Amino acid sequence: MPTLFPFDTTYTRLPDRLYASRAPTPVARPGLVRVNAALADDLGVDPAALASAEGVAVLAGNAVPEGATPIALAYAGHQFGSFVPQLGDGRAILLGEVVGRDGARRDVQLKGSGRTPYSRGGDGRAALGPVLREYVVAEAMAALGIPTTRALAVVTTGEPVYREAALPGAVLTRVAASHLRVGTFQYAAARGDVDGLRALVDYAIGRHDPAARHAEIPALALLDGVVLRQAALVARWLHVGFVHGVMNTDNTTISGETIDYGPCAFLDEYDPGAVWSSIDRHGRYAYGSQPRILAWNLARLAETLLPLLAEDEARAIELATASVRGFGPAFEAAYHAGMRRKLGIATERAGDVDLADDLLARMAEQRADFTLTFRRLAGAAEDPARDAGVRALFADPGAFDAWAPRWRARLADDPADARDRAAAMRAVSPAVIPRNHLVEAALRAAVDRGDYGPFEELVEVLARPYEEPAVGREKHADPPGEGERVTATFCGT
Ligand code: AMP
Ligand code: MG
Repeated sequence: MPTLFPFDTTYTRLPDRLYASRAPTPVARPGLVRVNAALADDLGVDPAALASAEGVAVLAGNAVPEGATPIALAYAGHQFGSFVPQLGDGRAILLGEVVGRDGARRDVQLKGSGRTPYSRGGDGRAALGPVLREYVVAEAMAALGIPTTRALAVVTTGEPVYREAALPGAVLTRVAASHLRVGTFQYAAARGDVDGLRALVDYAIGRHDPAARHAEIPALALLDGVVLRQAALVARWLHVGFVHGVMNTDNTTISGETIDYGPCAFLDEYDPGAVWSSIDRHGRYAYGSQPRILAWNLARLAETLLPLLAEDEARAIELATASVRGFGPAFEAAYHAGMRRKLGIATERAGDVDLADDLLARMAEQRADFTLTFRRLAGAAEDPARDAGVRALFADPGAFDAWAPRWRARLADDPADARDRAAAMRAVSPAVIPRNHLVEAALRAAVDRGDYGPFEELVEVLARPYEEPAVGREKHADPPGEGERVTATFCGT
């Protein structure tokens, strides 16, 4: 077989206490569900080869491809605020790294590929439903333009996994800018392994912040980079109504990509307190809490880096604190700039933040659909006759009517061609998002009936989220009907 992946792996040069060499565990009957051909092309991988019998054997973990150095990565993490000193890839294997056609290095990882030394009590496997959810949501996020890990392929295993019930098993092939997490640094720090930390900092700088190598304090420059990337990321989440669901420090990347789609969901009605995750009992990771939690996670990263920031501990704490404090202003700037774009405002004025906040407060009170409100606002900016479509989303349409004149007055002060303004608004406010009820229906069709039609349709529609769905596919833009509302999602383990 010709080389499937042009591996060029660097993680194995790190001290070997940071990972464990371990091949995936073969499965009974590999079955191909989907190869992401466009992503394969970007990686310089032949999609037809991936879909061949030999390729599917690799994607299922039944064959180790040429050039692979399969390893499970060690990490620790704060889960719902409590520190767990040993987590790690309990059900994932990094096959290796490839440098794509854009010159960027990416990890290729199998998720659901069997037990590893980090599995603790787990079976090392993944169920088909959560694997399909990760595929749909990760690819939707990518199409929305939000930094994210990607989904390269899904295969079924022909084996059951036992959760509340016996479920079909599957393996996801995940592609990431790296799998370095805040928890990776916590793993070394918790062991007092300063050499390991230094190696991780050098490595992370090489992959994500090459300029930091020349900084006076490289570890501090790395921290600054992570702070800025994560601030920009969480702002983007809020702009599209995304709720990650499990923002533990082991699910917070150094790259600034969204990772680990478990019980995640997109808002239908706007509600800053929205939580879906059935394991998030206290609402720690609610929609509106995400920036605050990210800042907390970054403080945990900063703590791990203290020995590398300055010899004097007080000085190190001072530097770390200042860096993490940069999160607030960076987040606010990114968040407000995005909200202005969603309102169709190209310039910046003191009252803009108020104007956006006032609309959001009214949306929350009136249970207005988040996605449709902003999408239809673009039409209203073009033609006031189209206010009707927006106000109809508010339980009391008068709440929108009371806000709209202030907005129009602001737009009058921000001259733009009406068509151009509306187009710019539609370029940042999607028509379609992964609606929870449609995701659930697609997963149920696949898992219960082996019908992948709804999954395939979702993937296709979500590849162009800023366009209105085609004739016959209008339901993808619609909120759930009364009986369709999804109130909880379950952690994909
Ligand atoms: P997650 O909630 O998916 O971010 O996973 C948290 C931790 O639990 C990570 O260390 C995972 O590798 C591990 N884990 C999750 N599910 C399993 C499983 N089925 N078998 C082994 N380890 C798992
Ligand atoms: Mg995780």
